[in-house]
Amino acid sequence: MRMTEIITQKRDGGELSPEEIGFFLQGIVKGEVPDFQASALLMAIYFNGLSDQEQYEWSNELLKLAVPMDLSDIPGVKISKHSTGGVGDKVSLIVGPLVAAAGISVPMIIGRGLAHTGGTLDKMESIAGFKTSLTAVEFKAALRKVNIAMMAPVEGLLPADKKLYALRNGSGSSECIPMIAGSILARKLAEGTDGLVLDVKVGSGALTKKMTDARRLAQIMVTVGKRMGRKVVALITEMDQPLGYAVGHALEVMEAIETLRGNGPDDLVQISLEIASRMVCLAHPDRSLDSAKEEIFQLLNDGKGLQKFRELIEAQGGNPQVIDSFELLPNASAEHVISSPRAGFVSRISADDIGRAVALIGRKTGVSDEALDAAVGIVLEHKVGDRINAGDRLCTIYYNDDSNLEEATATVEDAFRISTTAPDTRPLVYEVMQ
Ligand code: URA
Repeated sequence: MRMTEIITQKRDGGELSPEEIGFFLQGIVKGEVPDFQASALLMAIYFNGLSDQEQYEWSNELLKLAVPMDLSDIPGVKISKHSTGGVGDKVSLIVGPLVAAAGISVPMIIGRGLAHTGGTLDKMESIAGFKTSLTAVEFKAALRKVNIAMMAPVEGLLPADKKLYALRNGSGSSECIPMIAGSILARKLAEGTDGLVLDVKVGSGALTKKMTDARRLAQIMVTVGKRMGRKVVALITEMDQPLGYAVGHALEVMEAIETLRGNGPDDLVQISLEIASRMVCLAHPDRSLDSAKEEIFQLLNDGKGLQKFRELIEAQGGNPQVIDSFELLPNASAEHVISSPRAGFVSRISADDIGRAVALIGRKTGVSDEALDAAVGIVLEHKVGDRINAGDRLCTIYYNDDSNLEEATATVEDAFRISTTAPDTRPLVYEVMQ
């Protein structure tokens, strides 16, 4: 079999056989397929997609190359969630502990950000000492002890996904729908979960900007996930403006903690309740969504979710005092305020621009695989629909290094649109697929 033939076949709209998919994915893991050929195939798939059968074979092969977690000796149903990625999306930090506090095991393989989106792994690593490179034994020990564990896709766990993730990030194919579906399914199936709630984001800050793409992504993951024997629900949710107010690793950890303390922004609280209650319903199919939502709301209000987050941090070697003292998290040394040039209504805050601005201030080189400074970020003062006066603060940029501050400022200014009339309100959840 030859790579050039596989590439041209996909370039010309053909269908790859299971053997060809296996040849390619095994080849990238063994280092036998050079990056230029791998990137060319990913770009051909970006433009021509994968059929349902190819997608199944692709996910299956990723999983065959993985070392899946065996959680059969952990009692009870295991339910996880995963987001396709957004700006300000710290939902996993809220939902994971809440569902664990409801007595359900929540195993989570967490990832880094892709393109302009932030990853749960980067956020959790901003907590001093929090260890994400766990062995299977450590992962299971944390899960047994506190009902929730979060680990990085460590070396050897998902080798093909790891390689593909890096290739996509460096070659402009992060937004490739079949790749997002394959990556998420492989991670979630390797976690050993029985059920999965997928948060498929749509809008400027998402990897899928258009509803048709988000629907296709959700449909692929639900179909393939079910074919692989898992219970899967996908929610298509709003990601045109950032979720909550904070964007940036440590700033998002702070906002997640505030949310678990009962002081969360409305959009973040609503999405978290929606996802967490659907996780409860997957674990207990006899429960109604309303009763699950009530339980989760209670766990949020009585601080049990926050207590679970504390236990999670402690179980994985982090400093739980960050919950009470935000100065123990990375904090930026300088800030720059952006104010509104005129009065009106905030009618748009492009999440994509906000995400790119954070990347600009957080990376010296601007190269996407350079780690983002965990302390930097943007905190919005207003959300879409707010009425503002001229000179009102729109947001604050927190930074340590001012090399790209000018460009970041221009990007943030472009992100905001101020109009004379109030914008239409959008739903937070557009569709549910199961
Ligand atoms: N999340 C993942 O785990 N993989 C992707 O490709 C995108 C979002």
